[in-house]
Amino acid sequence: NSFEEAGLYDAFLQNVRKSKYEKPTPVQKHAIPIIMAGRDLMACAQTGSGKTAAFLLPTLTGMMKNGLTGSSFSAVQEPQALVVAPTRELAVQICRDAYKFAHGTMLKAVVLYGGTSIGHQLRQVEKGCHLLVGTPGRLIDMFTKGKVSLEKIKYLILDEADRMLDMGFGPEIRKIIETFGMPGKDQRQTLMFSATFPEEIQKLAAEYLNDYLFLSI
Ligand code: AMP
Repeated sequence: NSFEEAGLYDAFLQNVRKSKYEKPTPVQKHAIPIIMAGRDLMACAQTGSGKTAAFLLPTLTGMMKNGLTGSSFSAVQEPQALVVAPTRELAVQICRDAYKFAHGTMLKAVVLYGGTSIGHQLRQVEKGCHLLVGTPGRLIDMFTKGKVSLEKIKYLILDEADRMLDMGFGPEIRKIIETFGMPGKDQRQTLMFSATFPEEIQKLAAEYLNDYLFLSI
């Protein structure tokens, strides 16, 4: 019932304290241990519930444990986590939150969205990062160009999945998930967050999550 008990990386805890988060919100309280345990998750949680920290804190902790702290500053980093979000605004906010929690660490995050030139974003990706956050169309553009290495992706997070389907991103989401191969065949952990749980989301979860836990807040 506290952030301290959750086993999160120490630097993140300090930044959580600085953010004046006194105790975990319900979605954080339940989702953080599930994600830390390595399970796939389907979480029904509204905007404003604290879902961003619920998925960022444990996945960033996992990345730190996987050796993001390595001392070689010059080595190009390959992303270990990918967050897919419906809008540019949400993607930017998630990236900002990641930097807020990871303040004082080496974590690098890059945000990718459409409606703007791809060149600058490509250069940022080529410089290396640990966390990629993006909107579906632009992510696919990037993957198709072959400029983003996805080999090290350990965490795939779909945020506001219902909104992405409402916006017509269903085919893009499927394409992104399938880029990584089907679940269960590798070490990837997949997390889905959605405000509602209509039939299409249930189908998506059944198809693409591996032995997942269901959380409804
Ligand atoms: P989200 O649902 O992730 O968009 O978060 C909604 C808002 O709640 C954001 O402004 C967060 O900074 C804030 N927030 C998230 N977790 C906590 C917490 N445990 N205590 C206080 N505020 C929080």
